[in-house]
Amino acid sequence: MKTAMPCVLTVNGGSSSIRFAVYEAGDTPRRRLDGKIDRIGLSGTNLTVTDPAGKLPGSRRLALADHGTAADFLLDWLETQPVFASVKAVGHRVVHGMKHSEPERVTPKLLAELHRITVYAPEHLPREIGLIEAFRRRHPKLPQVACFDTAFHRNMPRVAKLLPIPRRYAARGVERYGFHGLSYAYLMEELGRLDPAAAEGRVILAHLGNGASLAAVRHGKSVDTSMGFTPAAGLVMGTRTGDLDPGLVYYLARTERMTVAQFQKMVNHESGLLGVSGTSSDLRDLCAREASDVRAAQAVELFCYQVRKWIGSFAAALGGLETLVFAAGIGENAPLIRERICDGLGFLGIELNRKRNARNAPLISARAGRVRVRVIRTDEELMIARSVTRVLNLGSMRET
Ligand code: AMP
Repeated sequence: MKTAMPCVLTVNGGSSSIRFAVYEAGDTPRRRLDGKIDRIGLSGTNLTVTDPAGKLPGSRRLALADHGTAADFLLDWLETQPVFASVKAVGHRVVHGMKHSEPERVTPKLLAELHRITVYAPEHLPREIGLIEAFRRRHPKLPQVACFDTAFHRNMPRVAKLLPIPRRYAARGVERYGFHGLSYAYLMEELGRLDPAAAEGRVILAHLGNGASLAAVRHGKSVDTSMGFTPAAGLVMGTRTGDLDPGLVYYLARTERMTVAQFQKMVNHESGLLGVSGTSSDLRDLCAREASDVRAAQAVELFCYQVRKWIGSFAAALGGLETLVFAAGIGENAPLIRERICDGLGFLGIELNRKRNARNAPLISARAGRVRVRVIRTDEELMIARSVTRVLNLGSMRET
């Protein structure tokens, strides 16, 4: 009888998208299919599928009102795919697990705990729990594994975790957690493969996408990161403010009678590049318009300026720098933005080779620069697939 490799489905639910992939389980999982549903709840919702065998249609328009209908649609669609019969487990990216940070099989107890802590990540956790529950309803026997995005930072030094508010809050878990951990773990593995000595040295990882953060890494371990108690902190992002003067809360409450819910909406969904430009949260749109639109130009400048400041501050936290890595949508695809971020960082030894930078080459630093600057395509899905394989011991399993 024909032997089929058991497969793992990975699910990565973002604020307006769900990315998914199917991998053959194993130490080096092989991707069979991947895709995403994006612009959920907005006009122009799309299902895009990449199929290495080239048999599936590339892209399809959908009308999906919210994440609940998107989850049901995804399940309907997946169930019609032949590869779904080989899926033996599902792995989810979960933004936050508080005390849970290692990948863990989803049980009723873990689900109850995730519900209890939604207040720690109200913008992300409810949607991720919704996806887990949708799979549980339709496929109750299919094991699911939660992979937490905070894991990479769990052993940051105390000084990087402490928030300067009254001590009693720290006892309740109010501290810097940091996120993008699956991406950072992948980037460090890749760096270790490309240049093992560099991975042991002083590294700044810049995950620059719609959500954006930086991590300072030494001896392979996170020593600081720009996101904080929630993913709204740190750098200016597509629609999130990043760090903000806390005095604004009082000012807006008094002058506009702004409520807590309105403030939460403003800092997460109406600010960042969208708020400053007044037109778009998408950096590519803003770059295309900046010559004729001063607000778009200011938003792009603010983004580059802030990333540059964070690189400087993390170089200070690390006491020097040997490697800088750019990743995610902006970090991997926007040479001009990388150039503008690095402009003026020559004093740290950061100098780009223009030609290599222009073609998104893996190594983009100039030979004369002390810091090696790299572009690495991040892969959160692969990290999820590996974790699921390990937690459920799928690598040794064969179906006959
Ligand atoms: P991600 O969240 O990782 O998918 O990244 C999305 C962000 O990457 C959006 O702001 C996109 O505009 C940006 N992006 C993707 N490709 C490019 C590009 N070629 N130039 C500038 N920004 C880009």
